[in-house]
Amino acid sequence: MKTRITEMFAIRYPIVQGGMQWVGRAELAAAVSNAGGLGIVTALTQPTPEDLLKEIARCREMTDAPFGVNLTILPSLRAISHAEFAQAIIDSGVKIVETAGRNPEPYMAAFKEAGIKVIHKCTSVRHSLKAQAIGCDAVSVDGFECAGHPGEDDIPGLVLLPRAAEELTIPFIASGGFADGRGLVAALALGADGINMGTRFMATLEAPIHRSIKERIVAASELDTALLMRQLRNTARYFRNEVTDQALAVERDQGAELTIEHLGPFVSGQRGKIVYESGNADAGVWSAGMVVGLIHDIPTCEELISRIVSEAREIVASRLAPALACA
Ligand code: NAD
Repeated sequence: MKTRITEMFAIRYPIVQGGMQWVGRAELAAAVSNAGGLGIVTALTQPTPEDLLKEIARCREMTDAPFGVNLTILPSLRAISHAEFAQAIIDSGVKIVETAGRNPEPYMAAFKEAGIKVIHKCTSVRHSLKAQAIGCDAVSVDGFECAGHPGEDDIPGLVLLPRAAEELTIPFIASGGFADGRGLVAALALGADGINMGTRFMATLEAPIHRSIKERIVAASELDTALLMRQLRNTARYFRNEVTDQALAVERDQGAELTIEHLGPFVSGQRGKIVYESGNADAGVWSAGMVVGLIHDIPTCEELISRIVSEAREIVASRLAPALACA
C-alpha cells in the first residue's frame, strides 16, 4: 500500500501497533514489523533506560524492518525520568519515536538532532495542531473509543478524525476502535493515512501476555470496558472487571474528595502486570478499547495484517465501487 505514512516510515502497510504498557515488548514489535506494519517497543515497560536499550537490541535481533519506541508522558505512581528514557532512545539509534500524553516539546530538539521522526499520539484537534507546530512529523489521533487514556473531550473517531483532516497538514494515523479491513477503509476515507491498533494486537499469537487474557478479549463485547479517574482529569479506559467495579465504587463514595491516593491501589500498573503474567483477568486493571467487541480470534500478526489489507481491498472493490458507480 502507499500512503504518506508508509512513505514516511518505509513500511509496507499503514498499520501501526499501539505502544501498550507491559505488552509492547520486542517479540510483538518485531512480529508487527516483520508483517509489514510498524511495531512499537514501549519504553516504560522496561524498569530502567538500560533495560530499554537491551530490549531495543533484542528487537533488532528479531527484525530488520523499521520499528519505533513509545514514550508515554503522563502522571505516574513511580518516579520516572522521561529525560533519561528519551536519551536511551536516542542512544539506541532507533529513528522513530511515538510520544503520548503530555506535550513532547522538551525532547523535540534532541530527537530532531538525532534524525528521529516523531509521531505524537493525542486525543484532540488542538493537541494535534500543537504537535504539528512544535515539529512532530505525524500525529496519531486517538478517538474516545480507545484503550488507555482517551483525554477529557469524549469525541469519537467518526467526528474527531475528519476534524483532524480539516486542520492538519502533516500525516495522521487514526487510532481507537480499529481492528479490521472495514476500519482501515473508513480511516482512509475520513482523511487519515493509516491506522493504529493496540487492543487488536493484544489478541495475537505473538503478544507476550497470557493466553487466557487473549481469550477473554475474544469473548468480550463492546460493552466490556469501563472509564476510571474521570474526576482526576486523567481518564483511563480499562477492561471492565472486579477491580474496575471496586474502583468505581470508591470514586462514587469519595465524590469531589477523590485523590490518586484513593485509586492508586486499584489502578497501579504493577497489579496490571500480574494480569498479563498470570492470566487472571481480575488481578488488577488492564487497558482495553471498545474494539474488544470486534475481536473474534487470535491470529499471528502476519495473518492479521494480511487479512486487514485483503479485506480492505475487497470492501473497496465489491462494496464501495459498485455502490458509488454511476448507473
Ligand atoms: P502507574 O502504575 O504509574 O499509574 C497507574 C495509573 O494511575 C496511570 O494511568 C497513571 O496515569 C495514573 N496516575 C498515576 N499518578 C497519578 C496522579 N498523580 N494523578 C492522576 N493520575 C495518576 O502507571 P503504569 O500502568 O505503570 O503505566 C506507566 C505509564 O504509562 C503511565 O504514565 C500510564 O499513564 C501510561 N499508560 C498509558 C496508556 C495510554 O493509553 N496511553 C495506557 C497504559 C498506561
